[in-house]
Amino acid sequence: MTKKIYEYKDAENWFIASLGDYPYVTSFFDDTSFSRISEMIYKVLEDTGYKRFDEGPSVQIHVVKMASDYQLLSFLTDMINQEFDRKLQVRRHQGTVLVTEGDQLLSVLLPAGGIQLADFLRNFSEKTLGDTILIATKNEGKTKEFRSFFEKLGYQVENLNNYPDLPDVAETGMTFEENARLKAETIAQLTRKMVLADDSGLKVDKLGGLPGVWSARFSGADATDEANNAKLLHELSMVFEQKDRTAQFHCCLVIAAPERDSLVVEADWEGYIAFEAKGEHGFGYDPLFIVGETGKRSAELTVEEKNKISHRAKALNKLLEVFPVWQANEF
Ligand code: IMP
Repeated sequence: MTKKIYEYKDAENWFIASLGDYPYVTSFFDDTSFSRISEMIYKVLEDTGYKRFDEGPSVQIHVVKMASDYQLLSFLTDMINQEFDRKLQVRRHQGTVLVTEGDQLLSVLLPAGGIQLADFLRNFSEKTLGDTILIATKNEGKTKEFRSFFEKLGYQVENLNNYPDLPDVAETGMTFEENARLKAETIAQLTRKMVLADDSGLKVDKLGGLPGVWSARFSGADATDEANNAKLLHELSMVFEQKDRTAQFHCCLVIAAPERDSLVVEADWEGYIAFEAKGEHGFGYDPLFIVGETGKRSAELTVEEKNKISHRAKALNKLLEVFPVWQANEF
């Protein structure tokens, strides 16, 4: 037994723990939430072999704030694994949280009100155990940006390359949100899975928000990036001052799941449209987009630099705050 202090902190969860002589839970919550959290912790401790009032070492934990049962149990089991040389694993399955060790199922935590047995058993097998999020894209680069985010939250991540038979969903909406919803909600209905879809594009103020949802096809049905950029420069040819050429890259992310209201987040990345293209990186309008007041085109940023500050990064940061709350209210 060590005297190590363990801590986990993100925007919505903050836990501190150490080993003690008996299980001891404290938190800053109101009485009802506190008793639910402490019962959950005691249950998992008992299920995994630590008696509630046993002599000998056990876990003491303080919950400062919490949005996700999964995150708290991952923290608890990580600590038990390190301190007692165990191999506990926490997985989500159809709204429940399961604690397993090797081929043993040790603990099942149900959401308030339980769940339908048919939902719990649907497609139940060793292989399908654990919840997945399907990213509605075939682009592996885009999938990678989302993968690390969702794997940390306990989801397995798939993309449309895992579902070659799904039909293409036409982007017929007039707004970014309509298009992202259309994709996420249609694919969630077809697959009965939780699905994330994004829609993004460039909005230029002097053009009343164009090319907007038509960013990919601004210069016609078979548009190339070069043709789109040439058309954009042409449309702005009478706007002579850079200060008047303000624009934003916009990103909308929608998470949909069957029989649930979708979660929507949006973010803008502010900048200006340059007078000529520059830069080797990126795609689309990156060679023309001057990032904020930096004077640099987004095509002059490396992928890593761009992924930290872009419209997609900003939207993903917003998702980090609201997704744990949305999925905690799952049922
Ligand atoms: P999608 O939402 O990823 O399909 O993007 C639609 C279109 O918006 C792309 O084809 C690009 O023209 C433009 N776009 C979206 N994000 C970016 C970006 O980060 N850089 C440059 N162009 C972008």
